[in-house]
Amino acid sequence: MATLTVDEFVNRNKAVAATHQPSPTFAEMGQMGVDVPHVIVLTCIDPRCKPEYFLNLQSGDGVLVMRNICGHVNPALNDILALDSFLTIKDILIIHHTDCGASHFTDAGIREDLKKRLPGHAELDTMGFGAINDLEQSVKDELKILRASPLVRRELAERAAGFVFDIKTGELTPVGCEINRNRFTQPSNMT
Ligand SMILES: [Zn+2]
Repeated sequence: MATLTVDEFVNRNKAVAATHQPSPTFAEMGQMGVDVPHVIVLTCIDPRCKPEYFLNLQSGDGVLVMRNICGHVNPALNDILALDSFLTIKDILIIHHTDCGASHFTDAGIREDLKKRLPGHAELDTMGFGAINDLEQSVKDELKILRASPLVRRELAERAAGFVFDIKTGELTPVGCEINRNRFTQPSNMT
């Protein structure tokens, strides 16, 4: 896998900009009657876990994709609160994925490495870096964090849904959605 240089990124952008279709401003969206986004997808930064691809997202879908290591709630909480205040979010999907890098490192390992690079910084001892041991449990834990936060609107927290994305099959599996499970399974009269 070749690493692209900054110049190569800039050249790629020039090619994209040549055929770019202008996006509407907020004011233009209002005039056109286009709704603002109401769904957050929180997932991992891993390039193999791209919701635009596996959810077939289109620009008019009104989906806000937020990504950090693994797809943790805590580093995203400020943004979730601001977006809910500004846009009134209806649903949050938390999606972790198989073979996540966060399952290949440990917080202790990252701490040790950083302490070697940054001697004398005792605050590193109490920092977490998003490592996970159990994929399904990590999704359940994120839902718990969201639902336990006194700052997140109750209705939004309770509607939050968790999934695991399988990088081999491309399929999403609901996790920890017992409260809202009927929203993600087909009604029994459908075949
Ligand atoms: Zn990941």
